[in-house]
Amino acid sequence: MKTRRNFLKLSALGGVAIISNSCFSKENESVKINDTSKNVIKPIVISTWIHGMEANAAAWEILAKKGNSIDAVEAGVRVTESDPENSSVGIGGLPDRDGKVTLDACIMDHENNCGAVACLQDIENPISVARKVMEDTPHVMLVGDGAKQFALEKGFKETNLLTNSSKTAWEKWKEESKYQPVINSENHDTIGLLALDEKGNLAGACTTSGMAYKLHGRVGDSPIIGAGLFVDNEVGAACATGVGEAVIRIAGSAIVVELMRNGLSPNDACKEAVQRIIKKHKDLTNMQVGFIALNKYGETGGYSVYAGFNYALKSSSQNEMVDAKFDRNW
Ligand code: ASP
Repeated sequence: MKTRRNFLKLSALGGVAIISNSCFSKENESVKINDTSKNVIKPIVISTWIHGMEANAAAWEILAKKGNSIDAVEAGVRVTESDPENSSVGIGGLPDRDGKVTLDACIMDHENNCGAVACLQDIENPISVARKVMEDTPHVMLVGDGAKQFALEKGFKETNLLTNSSKTAWEKWKEESKYQPVINSENHDTIGLLALDEKGNLAGACTTSGMAYKLHGRVGDSPIIGAGLFVDNEVGAACATGVGEAVIRIAGSAIVVELMRNGLSPNDACKEAVQRIIKKHKDLTNMQVGFIALNKYGETGGYSVYAGFNYALKSSSQNEMVDAKFDRNW
């Protein structure tokens, strides 16, 4: 018999591929795939952190008019990218240790189409470039100079993303940190946004300037399909924030979706993924990671390693911040 404990042992060995459809069904029958009797909450949008409130509002303008989830997720995170006061996404994002602002983003629709850009410089809205990669090329990801060249060819404008306040913060960091990249829970955040539209289609977007003062060329989880974001229209969608290296190591967002496929609620799926991160890392100092998830029924959840993670939720009856559950206090 496959008990949950056995499942965890097995999955530690084999990852996603060995998860079978029945793994969780005996212990958790609350969420079944394709339960036609279930009431679906739609449209609905959720996104990471407090900046998600404004992003959700922009996404909602599209969702409320019966628009598509893919348009909604792009419009939502563009608001955060274009906010120069936000130091973790788009313009105003904190730079790498060389003083260069490099942006990562990805987008995924209800048919598993996806696009991504990584280490993109001088372009304010990487999510829209990612969407062009998805729609106008046979590829999924473009990086660095190639991504920038593609963006310019598509008519995106070259923009200086290093604001005065980000430059000042970087100069101060250089004095104290002696040009060493550090993992610091204070200096990174991301917007990941998931939406379910009126037609019942899911989509997601994820965009970030990544970890501040990282090595030039470092790419985190956020633009990596399956790590920072994953959408499967049969099941649900998930995205991640926090230390990207830890998320990549467990294929975080893909795992959350697979766990939902196997019967877990969005909340429990996020919790399992977080616990896997905890199990795989001996040193959890500053190892904050949070996941949010949305299933086909419009049910939502979130979970993080440490306290303090929250997400914004908007539906026809709710517009609020939700404190995610967590494993431990700092
Ligand atoms: N996950 C992002 C990265 O590692 C940063 C964050 O969400 O705080 O680049």
